[in-house]
Amino acid sequence: MSTMIRTEGLKKIYRVGKEKVVALAGVDLEIEQGEVCCIVGQSGSGKSTLLNMLAGLEKPTRGTIAIAGKKISSMDEERLAVFRQENLGFVFQSYNLLPQLTAAENAALPLMFSGMGKEQRLKRALRELKQMGLAERAGHRPSEMSGGQQQRVGIARAFVARPKVIFADEPTGNLDTQTTQHVLRAMLDRVAKYGITLVMVTHEPNLAECGDRVVTLSDGKIIGNVLRKNAEEEAL
Ligand code: ADP
Ligand code: MG
Repeated sequence: MSTMIRTEGLKKIYRVGKEKVVALAGVDLEIEQGEVCCIVGQSGSGKSTLLNMLAGLEKPTRGTIAIAGKKISSMDEERLAVFRQENLGFVFQSYNLLPQLTAAENAALPLMFSGMGKEQRLKRALRELKQMGLAERAGHRPSEMSGGQQQRVGIARAFVARPKVIFADEPTGNLDTQTTQHVLRAMLDRVAKYGITLVMVTHEPNLAECGDRVVTLSDGKIIGNVLRKNAEEEAL
């Protein structure tokens, strides 16, 4: 196994007026290729901040982040955007779907830069939607779908381009228990099948059980980093 993600001395300080908020207070973390890593901790502990920085969506105040050996923390915006397109997928807590596009068009978006024709892109997107139990919603717009359905479109979008790493912030936060099981199973099957590294923020302890690694944050610091064996079989 090789290291997929490595951070050193990662700090994030927000300035709010004259106040300084230390969201991350020095995080050193290594995540292996193909690992499912769950990030847990109380509200405000820095989970989303850490995830956003790992995903290249926010710049650290101090410290370094390398993904697949590439130091993303020192890339300029343009290179970072290309790196994200080619290597990373995201599942947002608030879906971030484009309202004017159908489910299939939304799920196909990451393939825009792949050189694939439109028909091929939509075919790939439809396959991902099917995996999420959403084939019959392919032509629907976000406003015509429930929160859970929109979240599953977001997950299909994250997988469609087969990225090296998928980052997910509370991906099942808006789903009922049964749908959570279904979506989680589909996500774990697909990361295993394609060797994708999954970094997932969750505040549900039983969801974290599916992680190979569980990282616990408190006040912007890692207070627990546990490797688990056969985690997935135990949890599901
Ligand atoms: P979590 O996802 O674990 O709930 P966050 O990473 O969202 O925690 O937040 C960590 C800390 O940083 C919190 O104290 C939060 O209020 C603060 N914070 C997060 N984002 C910002 C921001 N954009 N500006 C100022 N403070 C922020
Ligand atoms: Mg959060």
